[in-house]
Amino acid sequence: MTATTDHWIEVAVQTPAHSGVGDLLSYRSPVPLETGSLVRVPLGRREVLGVVWNNGLTAPDLPPQALKDIAGALEGLPPLDGRWCQLMAFAAQYYQRSLGEMALSALPPQLRDLDNIQLARRLKKQTAATYSLQIQPGPTLSTQQTQALQQIATHAGPFLLFGSTGSGKTEVYLHAVAQVLQADDSAQALILVPEINLTPQLEARVRERFGKDAVVSMHSGLTPAQRLKSWLAAHTGTARIVLGTRMAVLASMPQLQLIVVDEEHDPSYKQQEGARYSARDLALYRGQQCGARVLLGSATPSLESWHHSRPADADSDPGGRYLRLHMPARIGAAPLPVVRRVDMNHQPRRTVLSAPLVQAIQARVAKGEQSMLLLNRRGYAPVLYCADCGWKSECRHCSAFRVFHKIDRTLRCHHCGATDRVPRACPSCGNADIAPLGRGTEQLEEQLAELLSGVRRPDGQPVRIARIDADTTRLKGALESQLAAVHSGEVDVLVGTQMIAKGHDFRRITLVAAINPDSALFSSDFRAPERLFALLMQAAGRAGRDATQGESEMLVQTFHPTHPLFEALKRHDYPAFAASELAERATASLPPFSHQALLRADAREQAVAQGFLNAARQTLEAWLGEEEGGAEVLEQVSLYPAVPMGLQKVADVERAQMLLESPSRKHLHRALSRLQDVLHTLRADPAHKGLIRWLVDVDPQAI
Ligand code: ADP
Ligand code: ZN
Ligand code: ZN
Repeated sequence: MTATTDHWIEVAVQTPAHSGVGDLLSYRSPVPLETGSLVRVPLGRREVLGVVWNNGLTAPDLPPQALKDIAGALEGLPPLDGRWCQLMAFAAQYYQRSLGEMALSALPPQLRDLDNIQLARRLKKQTAATYSLQIQPGPTLSTQQTQALQQIATHAGPFLLFGSTGSGKTEVYLHAVAQVLQADDSAQALILVPEINLTPQLEARVRERFGKDAVVSMHSGLTPAQRLKSWLAAHTGTARIVLGTRMAVLASMPQLQLIVVDEEHDPSYKQQEGARYSARDLALYRGQQCGARVLLGSATPSLESWHHSRPADADSDPGGRYLRLHMPARIGAAPLPVVRRVDMNHQPRRTVLSAPLVQAIQARVAKGEQSMLLLNRRGYAPVLYCADCGWKSECRHCSAFRVFHKIDRTLRCHHCGATDRVPRACPSCGNADIAPLGRGTEQLEEQLAELLSGVRRPDGQPVRIARIDADTTRLKGALESQLAAVHSGEVDVLVGTQMIAKGHDFRRITLVAAINPDSALFSSDFRAPERLFALLMQAAGRAGRDATQGESEMLVQTFHPTHPLFEALKRHDYPAFAASELAERATASLPPFSHQALLRADAREQAVAQGFLNAARQTLEAWLGEEEGGAEVLEQVSLYPAVPMGLQKVADVERAQMLLESPSRKHLHRALSRLQDVLHTLRADPAHKGLIRWLVDVDPQAI
């Protein structure tokens, strides 16, 4: 007996990653539905949104009555196209998540709540908004900008635009977008930025150039209604440009022809929860898949992208897959700042602000210029300490110290948020004399105020100091107003964390200082030097953006002034830094010379977490050992023993991790997909009862 009018369809729905429910669920539909259509389907007692993945199937091995009917289709919405579905399938497989989770998390949440009438209304607004694209002319391009654009127009890419801060990369992006949109009336372009809050200037520039109707933005700061609106505009093609953060790489853009990834080295492109995808890497996949050009840009590219864009070498190396475009000169010929290293070995012990730095700040204030001081620690002091008994302000719930915040006299854990009032005396021995150890931005601000109390601006007013970090910008709009104060010249000395180093076009800053950058030189994270170098180069790029301001400088306070990283920084020589880092990575077989994945386990007890990981490793080894081709996988993939994570305990949860590493991506993925089966099998074993969760991080950004 076959039903003549019913259609069997397979639907991707969001099931929890570890639920064990298969990726696709089968339903019956009274009407034929195209692949990529959105439907509402019953799941347990709920009704959920799903994407039709396969249609027109022959009846599955189930009696028809075992299948439930779909609850309804979202009418009027064009189906998601095959390439989008393929992108989701790839991302799910690559990042080891379920297809449904990947696909559904890429859709705007509000789609789940709309009925067909509401949806029709929203769609009608979209089509009503037709307009003709008017592109404003930009400035006359420099020679190096023109050359870069010529390359982009005549090669397939992907491209790495390696341009100094202020070299006019953004202008190249905008021209590349204009080229693509002008050549084809329906073409779409995607511009990715690391953090949209930090780049309101870029958003304004894009809207001004292309008209506000052509551009939509996509980031987590939007309301659900705004997000839906942007998504529909991108999906239906009314938006010609999508400007967004990493999530935008998953947007449906049927006519996508160009993807720009600005500041491509930025770690914020890696999602840190759920499906831990890299938006930069997915942009590259997506570009290849749909024939869109991909343009990565940075003054300090990731070492991966630098390596992949290496020129061919006469001997044997055929070169990287990307085409490297170089723009060394800054627009307006404002020279990069002079970098001076302050040897802290020659300063009095416990000096925070060295004499040369204080003098330099004073000189800038006297000239009416701005200074920016970077310290990557917020709060007053990272720990409170009792010199009598050695007590330290540890967090009860985390393997970390609670940070002393003087402003409200609290001890706050920056990991779990636990907050207490500062004790009057040492909780352990009663000593009344507990003292802050180390320093954060709050203390720096306080000390600066003391040191500069007698200093006057050219107008005779006292010096004005401001601080920008996660504490001062908690309230909505606070960051914007604080940045505006800096731009309008109300601030003479700005203190902050790395938040202030990125992206802002502060035209009047002529002095930048790194207060205490040394810790990254000796970090256990092999990417720490790369991040530090990028941060310092970015910070240096903040100085002297206005050629009329005269000479600008950067001061680096360090106990290791001859460290090669600072030598390269002094010369603004990213290629030299990259060459030496890459040589070290090659020797140690680290990325980009190998591929990594982390398996993490969380439990109440460290032993349980590690026990689970080690059992997973042993089981995986055993299974692969017996399978066809498994020996080769075992040979190619190193499975390391479980270790506690650097930050071992957070909010009373013990964390452990296990590293998988391989020169071969293919073999690493074979191991990972087998590992999924292992994990589901072990989970059922009562020996691992205390396990809270596990997660897999492919191409992790921190180890
Ligand atoms: P980057 O993105 O490389 O840091 P931008 O594109 O922001 O650099 O350019 C730096 C500054 O120079 C901006 O104020 C920009 O408006 C200006 N600019 C860029 N290209 C040109 C050009 N060809 N002529 C004049 N000004 C330009
Ligand atoms: Zn004590
Ligand atoms: Zn804590």
